[in-house]
Amino acid sequence: MKIQRASHLGWCFGVRDAVGLAKTHAAQGPITSLGELVHNAAVLEDLRQHGVMTRHDAGDVSTRRVLVTAHGASRRRLEELARAGFEVTEATCPLVHRAHAALDDLVRRGLHPVIVGLRDHVEVRGLAEDHPGCDIVLSESDVDAIVPRGGFGVVAQTTQPVARVRALVARLVVRFPDSQVVFRDTVCQPTKDRQNAAVELARASDVVVVVGGSKSNNTRELVATCSRHCTRVHHVDAAAELRPEWFSAGDRVGLTAGTSTPDERVDAVEEWLQRMAKDDVEIHGNGEHAGAAAAARATDSGAR
Ligand code: SF4
Repeated sequence: MKIQRASHLGWCFGVRDAVGLAKTHAAQGPITSLGELVHNAAVLEDLRQHGVMTRHDAGDVSTRRVLVTAHGASRRRLEELARAGFEVTEATCPLVHRAHAALDDLVRRGLHPVIVGLRDHVEVRGLAEDHPGCDIVLSESDVDAIVPRGGFGVVAQTTQPVARVRALVARLVVRFPDSQVVFRDTVCQPTKDRQNAAVELARASDVVVVVGGSKSNNTRELVATCSRHCTRVHHVDAAAELRPEWFSAGDRVGLTAGTSTPDERVDAVEEWLQRMAKDDVEIHGNGEHAGAAAAARATDSGAR
């Protein structure tokens, strides 16, 4: 078995900075994150131990200080929090701020706002709340439901696959040939890098392991991308979820991870795979079944 990491994977600078900021502020006194700072249970538990509470509703917050996550928030929401007496710290990623600025600019130019993204995602809600009446699209049928306008200004949720975004923009152009359509590509570079690296990896692998939380949108998108180029793709949150029967002797195993997956999780998965690969070499030469031997070893070591 040969294991290869994607050339870009795991934590992005936006998540790393947000977690660092949260811990720095928690060291100065109680603070509550409004929503999950990172869609990863292990990271949230670590933050909790550092004193960062997580609440989804401002009404449930018992601290004076609150933290806006890397996903950002609308101006309306920030003003509401200030009016309610909270001291607000923004851990908003600069690339999310860039998406807000791009949408504001398009609207200032008189274009109708369109966001490509998940309607219920906190980042998309933050973008949409400052532009009531905007359209949020994620499929061709969503685009087909848009009513005619003189012009459209389109941005994307930062973690959307750029190919999907471009395809939906192209459909909008075809649907409204007489309207102006201006697209600002706000998909962030770390997402593009991970998506491109995932395609390259999946094409060169017999099996791919994607590491990340089940609620992480960009991790799920990586799974979907890899699945288009490789038939054996497994999504795990931790090494304990790996199963020896997923792998065979001689497999080329690709490893990638979402932007919210901490390095230790990726390293633990790679270590587990390296143990499998070692069995592959040691046992395959003796004509034994590599998977069964690795299963025994993994069980012995408690890695499962
Ligand atoms: S995924 Fe992109 S936009 Fe989101 S925090 Fe990371 S770098 Fe920033």
